[in-house]
Amino acid sequence: MAPISSILLSNGTVLLHDEQDHVNPVKTDILIVDNKIANIAPSISPPTDAINIDCTGKILSPGFIDTHHHLWQTQLKGRHADDLFLDYMVKGENFEDGSNWNFVYALFGVEDVFLGQLGGCMEAIDAGTTMVVDHAHMNYSAKHSSSALSATVASGIRSYFCYNPVPQPPAASLAPFSFGSNAAEWSTKQLADLAASQPFGNGRVRLGLAFDAFYLPKEFVVSLYERARGLGVKLFTSHNLTNVGFGAHSWVNLLDSYGLLQGDFLLSHMNQATPEEAAKLVAKGVHISSTPETELQVAIGSPVCFRPDLHKISSLGIDCHTNNSGDILSQMRLALQSARSTYNQQFIEQGKVPRAVNATALQAFNLGTIMGARAVGMEAEIGSIAVGKLADIVIFDARSPSMICGAEHDPVAAIVLHASVRDIETVIVDGQIRKREGKLVPVVDKNMAEEPMEWSQIAAKLLHSREKLQEILKTEDMDSARKAVIGLFHIDEQNIVDNL
Ligand SMILES: [Zn+2]
Repeated sequence: MAPISSILLSNGTVLLHDEQDHVNPVKTDILIVDNKIANIAPSISPPTDAINIDCTGKILSPGFIDTHHHLWQTQLKGRHADDLFLDYMVKGENFEDGSNWNFVYALFGVEDVFLGQLGGCMEAIDAGTTMVVDHAHMNYSAKHSSSALSATVASGIRSYFCYNPVPQPPAASLAPFSFGSNAAEWSTKQLADLAASQPFGNGRVRLGLAFDAFYLPKEFVVSLYERARGLGVKLFTSHNLTNVGFGAHSWVNLLDSYGLLQGDFLLSHMNQATPEEAAKLVAKGVHISSTPETELQVAIGSPVCFRPDLHKISSLGIDCHTNNSGDILSQMRLALQSARSTYNQQFIEQGKVPRAVNATALQAFNLGTIMGARAVGMEAEIGSIAVGKLADIVIFDARSPSMICGAEHDPVAAIVLHASVRDIETVIVDGQIRKREGKLVPVVDKNMAEEPMEWSQIAAKLLHSREKLQEILKTEDMDSARKAVIGLFHIDEQNIVDNL
């Protein structure tokens, strides 16, 4: 058994949640023993072997929780700056392999997947994310999924690795598009094997299920979920959109009619949720993940995490770090200010002004912390700083040019409205320091390298992998790909217009 390690975080401003989700900044010490918060009190005497971190002038926040992310896509960053949803699907998800349309992840070799996944995890840790729900849709082969899972474990992040079962045939033709009605045999077996051997990484990484193919026959969908629940899978995530791209179906009503909808579901986006669907989700204890930065860009609707009927079941996610920032700070800020703008505009258009804002910085902070913990069913373990909880803590430099003075007045406002990733000095996940003095700590994966890997080495490997992938991707015929995706989603082209 490994020796118990301890860390003393002394004299910082610690953000402590109360039972009503208010946050009280308290000048105090925190003692971490092994992977848990053992004590919160002034002037703690540390064990002799403790690592001491002087937190004078620092803010200590619960680690951020990202409830929707595709972590494997790092090599595809920068490709979608001016894309809408359909463009993203064309350029980010699909390619032609000579005779068939296929998914981009099929281009990724097993090592490319490892690197992409590790890059995604490390960007998240660098930005103070300590827990991430990974919608792991890189599952081209069993080795692809194993490789991604190894990278998540190596990175040190906490995660639900939401395995995406692959329908048969796995590399479906998109033109004409068809999936079979069964999961590929290897995929069914791997799901069972992973469920039996979870959790991974000393308990940090749990198995979830990611699934979007609700158009498949009822028997298939019901048996998949029943089997996964029987295997001990505790979190079920799925994209949920109703629009000209995704179609007019209500997956909420469908899942409910199948008797599957319950509190272990986490639905991404939900931008077009009807009041009836919202009421159903609240009644069933289902949570949602808003991903403001992708949603604001790609024309799938405005983020709903401040909608009054959905707010209390909401949380925040990144979605695609190919497209946008990988930090929850940005998502808090974008969600908050876009919700305020939408609300204020209604008054402006009627020649009035609102008496008060409709959403607060504290609410945004909670969406990225304690409400994220609720969304993944882990409120008792993460999401706030409290004795007995897992030690997932982010330390901000409150004396940086961006946070100075704001941090003294209101540390929550300083984080939500003033901080950037630069201000995050130290990140602790599960009692392990993963970022220190502004730099990521090297990661260990014996299959990839004998020695611990510095970020600079990982970056060099990522560049090499990207160049290789880019050689293939640049030869693709995008007009033809666009036609294939329009066919795949049965999009009525009359609804794609230049102006209203
Ligand atoms: Zn997504």
